[in-house]
Amino acid sequence: MSLPTKAKVVIVGGGIHGLSTAWKLSETYKNPGDIVVLEKKDTAAGASGIACGVVRNNYFQPAMRELMAHSVSVWESDPKAFKYNAVGYLQISPEVMHADVATIYEQQKAIGYESEFIEGEKDCMNYMKGMFDDWQAKGITSVLHEKKRWICI
Ligand SMILES: Cc1cc2nc3c(=O)[nH]c(=O)nc-3n(C[C@H](O)[C@H](O)[C@H](O)COP(=O)(O)OP(=O)(O)OC[C@H]3O[C@@H](n4cnc5c(N)ncnc54)[C@H](O)[C@@H]3O)c2cc1C
Repeated sequence: MSLPTKAKVVIVGGGIHGLSTAWKLSETYKNPGDIVVLEKKDTAAGASGIACGVVRNNYFQPAMRELMAHSVSVWESDPKAFKYNAVGYLQISPEVMHADVATIYEQQKAIGYESEFIEGEKDCMNYMKGMFDDWQAKGITSVLHEKKRWICI
């Protein structure tokens, strides 16, 4: 395939980041050939092609939380086109992770991202049994439940 001799934007890499960037910039650069994506193998030949497809707002960096919340709003804008399948996301943790997960929950609340935080072994067991009646895991002292965030592609 021959490449154009010039373009307004050249993006190297046809993974999720390169293609998302091209998609966003296509709002500005509308003519065919304005944006060129160079991919050495194939679309999503790298990590994007083997990712599990899970979208969660469960990162320790606060900036990621706002980015993911924004991204979810984009996916929710056209679930069919983006194959967005909202089923929820659970972080089920032992005591050693309790404080860190509590921090994530506080940050989710601060940006209005819907989630529920259950604390204490007994309440966690009851909560999980409410979803899975054969739930048995011991030593779980926190459950962070993002109510509807998961993409499966
Ligand atoms: C097993 C696994 C599971 C994962 N699961 C999840 C998940 O559930 N949820 C989640 O959010 N994230 C997940 N991730 C992380 C996520 O997949 C990556 O963060 C994301 O795909 C990175 O996208 P990218 O576009 O930056 O890179 P890539 O997808 O790797 O794209 C880079 C592209 O650049 C091309 N390229 C490289 N060098 C050149 C060159 N010189 N010239 C031209 N092209 C070049 C490559 O061929 C490739 O196609 C997972 C990752 C892995 C490995």
